[in-house]
Amino acid sequence: MLTVNDTTLRDGEQTAGVAFSAEEKMGIARALSSAGVPELEIGIPVMSEEEQEIIRAISGQGLDARLMVWGRMCEEDLRAAAKCRVDIVNLSIPVSDLQIGHKLKRDREWVLRAIRRFVPAALDLGMEVCVGAEDASRADTDFLLKAAETAEYAGARRFRFADTLGVLDPFATYEILRTLRVTVDMEIEMHAHNDLGLATANTLAAVKAGATHINTTVNGLGERAGNVPLEEAVMALRHLHGIESGIDSRRFPEISRLVAQASGRPVPANKSIVGEGVFTHESGIHVDGLIKHRSNYQNFDPAEVGRHHRMVLGKHSGCSAVIRAYADLGMMLDELQAGSILTRIRQYAGSCKHAPGVEELKLFYLETATRSPLRLEV
Ligand code: MN
Repeated sequence: MLTVNDTTLRDGEQTAGVAFSAEEKMGIARALSSAGVPELEIGIPVMSEEEQEIIRAISGQGLDARLMVWGRMCEEDLRAAAKCRVDIVNLSIPVSDLQIGHKLKRDREWVLRAIRRFVPAALDLGMEVCVGAEDASRADTDFLLKAAETAEYAGARRFRFADTLGVLDPFATYEILRTLRVTVDMEIEMHAHNDLGLATANTLAAVKAGATHINTTVNGLGERAGNVPLEEAVMALRHLHGIESGIDSRRFPEISRLVAQASGRPVPANKSIVGEGVFTHESGIHVDGLIKHRSNYQNFDPAEVGRHHRMVLGKHSGCSAVIRAYADLGMMLDELQAGSILTRIRQYAGSCKHAPGVEELKLFYLETATRSPLRLEV
């Protein structure tokens, strides 16, 4: 069983320049939960009293999703988390020698002691615990396993493997997650970053290696190049591995718009699944192929993600597409007229850099109709 833990409201909000209002956070949490996302990481309580109030407001909505908050492995963060009435706390601690030495100015033994101390402390406060292994992908393997075993023994139910800087590829991910999987019995959560564009691929590899949980964000929002896009993970797991996440993928366009608006981060036209242009077709060969048989140029039915194919006319269109588009507008063209309109469409697309709209198409029709001798004979 695979569980998606969406962190749009935590790592997503950590994107430089992004700050959600209380209403936006509550709305996004509602949308994700009602679409069937089973877990949400919703914020960092120690940031402020106000943040804690927002988290409590989300928790007060009585959503179906389990709620998680994020904190460092220390007294202050734990106390703040305990005030938030959520199910599970992610207690984060660096596990790479680099971050242990150069960020914390501590040593490995100190990290293990912290895990032994704070996991039971969080359990005593009534929260379940995920130990977040920061920078796990650059950690010494033996120490990483030692940290995971220590977390399990201390009572944590989950171990988050964070590829904090997005340095892994799917092969390395599979190998290290496999090693982790055979070492501990606890839940394993993959937290991938997209610095090399491999976040989704690495997440799939982690699942294949036995990860039980994955972190995602809507539109791939998150630190730097972002996290694993929720929509990509859900669709790739379904279509490539036959793994269902229980999430209603038809809700993606609505949720994507909601997050794009609240974050001020517009979705690129070619963003997989939710980008404006990813089901739009222009080239003569593709349009013709799609019309003859959908599977010629269709990976999955766009209806599955609440979308549909759209044909536009442009530089790469063929005559049959022109005839079809005009027929849809109630105008019947012969081959000759379609040919001269196509020339006009190509000029338009070349100078305007976008597909002509209905008004332009009507105009081209009138232009060619008055010039076409065939039309005059009628
Ligand atoms: Mn992160």
